[in-house]
Amino acid sequence: MTIDTLVLATRNPHKAEEIRAMLADLNITVKDMRDFPNCPEVTEDGRTLEENALKKALEVHRCTGLPVIADDTGLEVYYLLGEPGVRSARYAGENATYEENNKALLNRLTQVPARKRQARFRCVVAFVAKGVEELFEGKVEGSILLKPRGDNGFGYDPIFRPDGDARSYAELTADEKNAFSHRARAIASFKAFLQS
Ligand code: IMP
Repeated sequence: MTIDTLVLATRNPHKAEEIRAMLADLNITVKDMRDFPNCPEVTEDGRTLEENALKKALEVHRCTGLPVIADDTGLEVYYLLGEPGVRSARYAGENATYEENNKALLNRLTQVPARKRQARFRCVVAFVAKGVEELFEGKVEGSILLKPRGDNGFGYDPIFRPDGDARSYAELTADEKNAFSHRARAIASFKAFLQS
């Protein structure tokens, strides 16, 4: 499938920056919501990452008329039966800061030993264009640290350590995180779809 412009349906500058870096090798113009100040904010009230990603992509496609991708991401902790999951952005309450969410999660896991702190990041990317609706998924398995480490990245990065690395996501450079992250894996599937 050939497109020459793609809109990123996100107002999160960290996400936009990561996704732009991953799309840099495609020869397309990438826009984000700052280019469409009149498009309304989309409420993320779905029960799943898939519902939220598709809702965001559909609404932004309706507003812009252009091909759109939207991502919805959740950190799923096995000991907490998949929490915070779809509630990752507001785990400590509406409008909670990243730090408050990290603290809330660490508090839920006090006394939980390292071997029971396995978790995964799951990212769902929805692509919507004229007559096309597709979903792509990327996952990274890892564990929740006992306390935050590192200053890079955003969100839960300081408390998530991917399997096979001694460092937290926030101790990786942007290039290192983008080489294998949950979002990179979902975007790689999307790129394979575009090129197929
Ligand atoms: P969203 O609903 O997809 O914007 O993401 C939900 C929440 O997950 C965000 O508020 C972040 O706290 C967290 N999140 C999403 N992506 C990442 C990531 O790549 N690293 C760390 N946290 C993330």
